[in-house]
Amino acid sequence: MTSTVITNIGELTTHDEQPVRHDAAIVIEGATIAWVGEATRAPSADHHVDLAGRAVIPGFVDSHSHLVFAGDRSAEFEARMTGTPYGAGGIRTTVAATRAATDEQLTSHVARLVREMRHQGTTSLEIKSGYGLTTRDEARSLAIARQFTEDTTFLGAHVVPADTDPATYVDLVTGAMLEAAAPYATWIDVFCERGAFDADQARQILRAGAAHGLKGRLHANQLGLGPGVQLACELGLVAVDHCTFLDDADISALADSGTIATLLPGVEFSTRQPYPDARDLLDRGVTVAIASDCNPGSCYTSSMPFCLAVAVRDMGMSPAEALWSATAGGAAALGRSDVGSLRVGDRADLAVLEAPSFVHLAYRPGVPLVTQTWLGGRPVL
Ligand SMILES: [Zn+2]
Repeated sequence: MTSTVITNIGELTTHDEQPVRHDAAIVIEGATIAWVGEATRAPSADHHVDLAGRAVIPGFVDSHSHLVFAGDRSAEFEARMTGTPYGAGGIRTTVAATRAATDEQLTSHVARLVREMRHQGTTSLEIKSGYGLTTRDEARSLAIARQFTEDTTFLGAHVVPADTDPATYVDLVTGAMLEAAAPYATWIDVFCERGAFDADQARQILRAGAAHGLKGRLHANQLGLGPGVQLACELGLVAVDHCTFLDDADISALADSGTIATLLPGVEFSTRQPYPDARDLLDRGVTVAIASDCNPGSCYTSSMPFCLAVAVRDMGMSPAEALWSATAGGAAALGRSDVGSLRVGDRADLAVLEAPSFVHLAYRPGVPLVTQTWLGGRPVL
């Protein structure tokens, strides 16, 4: 097995018992971290990489994205930002374009976005379906997503398509569509929000998914208060995403259940909505993850460093808390223990920063600080 020693790491964040080290080194054997410690005590290896004082962090784990789509909605964004009424159909525009696209077009678009993510230090990601909304288009969206990650999520319950009624559509999502999607999916998700799916429908859809071996997640409490967060906690889901509007009982339920609150700062940024209060969640013992929610409608950023900077600036998180949430927090939200940290035995997924400290991710927003991304022990950039 080939080994590589990386030395002269100015600041190394591992999330182990000594979370941040200075003048550090790591040894990678194959795809795995084999040794972590002071640079002066580093063992020798087949290959040697000198980072000249740069900081190293675990690769970002983006636990929430919607990358399988076609079409462009920049006009809708422009209208939203300029206060001009916009007539086109939002998500329906994307659904129509996605259905019309070929497999090759969809695949190369996902590949481009994943490449974009790699350039910004993301090493693990989740990808949802949800812009097909027919049995054929949901299944092929997931088959395409599967080429890029094992963490694929069936989100047939994104919105009820215009040409059908809710009861008929829930039957489809829990029936033939689920049957066709399940072979390509690890997770099942529901947009549990007023105007989308209610708590009873969400429960029914998640239960049907579980019967096909799919683990549940939820989009909840994005646009207002609602039952989604407490449903996620009651069902013991690993994570519930958005959590923008929470009341006291929601926060207590999150703290008591251990269900992770995945916050998506890019959404509030891109829609000019109020941010979730991450500070309050952390102070009350809730585990917080940060993800991009990269999608063509409410948030078209693929940048975890950007989301981290917004979380620090506008959600009351410290740089260290935001980094944890965007790496180890994201891993926890996907039920992964081998990524999101750089302990001995973890997968050697890491990002090298053109900076002396990870704090620069928030201190220098919008600057492309990731100079190398390593995936399974090899640089991919
Ligand atoms: Zn989403």
